[in-house]
Amino acid sequence: MEKARKTRHLVVDPRQPDVALIKEAGAILREGGLVAFPTETVYGLGANALDARAVTGIFEAKGRPADNPLIVHIDSLRTLGRYVYKVPPVVSRLASRFWPGPLTLVLRGGHVFHPVVTGGLDTVAVRVPAHPVALELIRAAGVPVAAPSANVSGRPSPTTAAHVLEDLSGKIALVLDGGPSGLGVESTVLDISGDCPVILRPGGTILRDLEEVLGPVEVDPAVNASAVDGGCPRSPGMKYAHYAPRATLILFDGHDQRRVVAAVLAEARRFAAGGHKVGIFTYSETASLYDGKGYSVIVAGQRSEPGTVAALLYESLRRFDCLDVDVILAEGMTPDGLGMAVMNRLRRASGGHVVTI
Ligand code: AMP
Ligand code: MG
Repeated sequence: MEKARKTRHLVVDPRQPDVALIKEAGAILREGGLVAFPTETVYGLGANALDARAVTGIFEAKGRPADNPLIVHIDSLRTLGRYVYKVPPVVSRLASRFWPGPLTLVLRGGHVFHPVVTGGLDTVAVRVPAHPVALELIRAAGVPVAAPSANVSGRPSPTTAAHVLEDLSGKIALVLDGGPSGLGVESTVLDISGDCPVILRPGGTILRDLEEVLGPVEVDPAVNASAVDGGCPRSPGMKYAHYAPRATLILFDGHDQRRVVAAVLAEARRFAAGGHKVGIFTYSETASLYDGKGYSVIVAGQRSEPGTVAALLYESLRRFDCLDVDVILAEGMTPDGLGMAVMNRLRRASGGHVVTI
């Protein structure tokens, strides 16, 4: 187990990762330590996936429920054969289009991994990250790297090294700081272990692109639920409240944006009249409608460009903590493209407080 001590914070240039530094970080991982590192999605908290004790350290540092399995990160499709005994042909088709990249594949096999990695399931989740620091680190470690997001469980995922330190300082050996994560939301988790491919978690690889390669892809019903009560979703992580800032977040979901804003404004007035400090999560198209009313407004990108919202999503949720608001009223967006991942995270962050307009 990782002893509480000072977490080292080392800056590394993603365009030219310092070889000696990456080697040192790789050795820490191989020998059972915990290293947070940048990926193209969010920052990951890595441990040697072949070392059950090291992986247990991830669960302790994050306070993560033990039945929520981890994603194993590898450096290329070539190394996958070492860890799952049968690589189905569809994996090569998906990998040639999407790897390295924000697509996690849930595959049969993977019995080399301890149940602490797979949550005791007979499948394993694997991906190749598209970030030079992550790839060099995995190569330097010489082992597959189990890595969830590097945040305290339940909190918004980290998109900078500062977010990692906010949550995990003193609990992990090292954070490699490669600047902000570009994409801002996690990978898409695609289950290809059954007859039909199913999205278990929407993320950086969008449905339309997957369907170009695979034909029709199902979306697990848990994706559009706020929290799954008492059920048994195919992705264990979907049962837990997640991505949540400290204040209660109420999500206003509807197609007619003017009606959504009107509902947010009415609710904001009600909370303010009750003496509550109100935070508003909005987009550049509608932000001015909240001007001069005394609310704490955060503009999370442009609604018409879901990529800009994905990039700012977690940082925006964390900023509400600093503003010390009592309630956050969040406008929803269309769940197309990356909007599907954004809406999934906002629904989960709301813990079920969704107003359908
Ligand atoms: P995180 O590590 O926090 O990015 O979350 C990883 C996600 O992948 C969680 O929602 C897990 O439940 C899911 N996951 C990991 N392994 C599996 C698996 N073998 N089957 C289904 N879902 C998985
Ligand atoms: Mg996570």
